[in-house]
Amino acid sequence: MIYKVPFVDPKKNYQMIRSEIDQAYFDVMSKGDLVDRTHLKSFERNLAQFVGTRYAVGLNSGYDALHMSLRASGIGSGDEVIVPAHTFVATTSAVVNVGATPVLVDVAKDFNIDIEKIEAVLTEKTKAIIPVHLSGHMADMVRIMEIAEKYHLVIVEDACQSLGATLNGKSAGSWGLSGCWSFYPFKILGGYGDGGAITTNDPDVALFARRMRYNGEDRETGEYHGHGFTCLLDNLQAAFLDVKLRHLPGWITRRKEIAQEYRNTLSDISDLVLPHYDDPRYDDIFQNYTVRSKQGNDFSEYLKKNGVEVLTQFRKPYYKHKALKLNDRGFTETEDLSREVCSLPINVEMDDDQVVYVIEIVRSFYKK
Ligand SMILES: *Cc1c(COP(=O)(O)O)cnc(C)c1O
Repeated sequence: MIYKVPFVDPKKNYQMIRSEIDQAYFDVMSKGDLVDRTHLKSFERNLAQFVGTRYAVGLNSGYDALHMSLRASGIGSGDEVIVPAHTFVATTSAVVNVGATPVLVDVAKDFNIDIEKIEAVLTEKTKAIIPVHLSGHMADMVRIMEIAEKYHLVIVEDACQSLGATLNGKSAGSWGLSGCWSFYPFKILGGYGDGGAITTNDPDVALFARRMRYNGEDRETGEYHGHGFTCLLDNLQAAFLDVKLRHLPGWITRRKEIAQEYRNTLSDISDLVLPHYDDPRYDDIFQNYTVRSKQGNDFSEYLKKNGVEVLTQFRKPYYKHKALKLNDRGFTETEDLSREVCSLPINVEMDDDQVVYVIEIVRSFYKK
């Protein structure tokens, strides 16, 4: 089906910045700079500066960023790590794949981990919390850092959906031991394939990730410092991401504009809950504009039928997938929102007419 308003529009995005992307491509290709060269170093410098950390280390995906962060903290077999019940599955898979046990905690009305429910699940074995900043709105890092200090826990931020978001002026990905980033094509800063990074102020974490992404090797001495992985961010992807990072502040402004337009025109619909939290400490970047509709699938199917592509992440919570063998303790908020979530298109490729069209279709559903 061809949508009047696609959820994302990579072809159009390319056209918007074509000369810069083509220039980056020619620069990399003509120099033959494919692995760990100046483009990667430049992107890492610029990303660290954007987030406000001392280091950024480019990796192959957001998953790898989580995985490397847990390994850098020495987390493994016998350890417990607290994760939200409502997130992308990779958050929890990283925990399982280092041999630790994920302990799921329900989320609150803002889709992020419910701080009130964390202390009840702490045990002697709890080593870390992975707060997820979902959809461009940060988890309450002030309170999470208080808990971390009180119980001596490591904090790894899954910031994959919140590049540019802040709380009290401090960026997502700069609070914990490390921040994890994904440059999956449809993230707010997306490459043309998989990509990721960690940001950190800790020189040991940065050094660990730099070595382990390259099979444990110190590239200057040739010494192997452990059994590592192959998960280095491509130099070519880094060159593209560096271009896009320059556009990010403007793109975030545009997303906020669209979000405000949705708010202005849809907030009178009582069966629809919009993702605005009105806490002046938070600056949200709207990676997703996820509404909750009481009408669930009827609402999302109606939008799709009328040419508006929407995402319903996730109708089935990840912990209900049998093969993952996770402990479903009954997470009522996650289950309620899973029936209702619907992410409306919000991206920099949309023009004003498309925004108006989405609004019209949403309103027409509720007029029936
Ligand atoms: C995208 C995403 C990831 C994983 O990123 P990949 O680059 O696809 O591995 C992890 N956590 C969250 C919250 C994400 O949105």
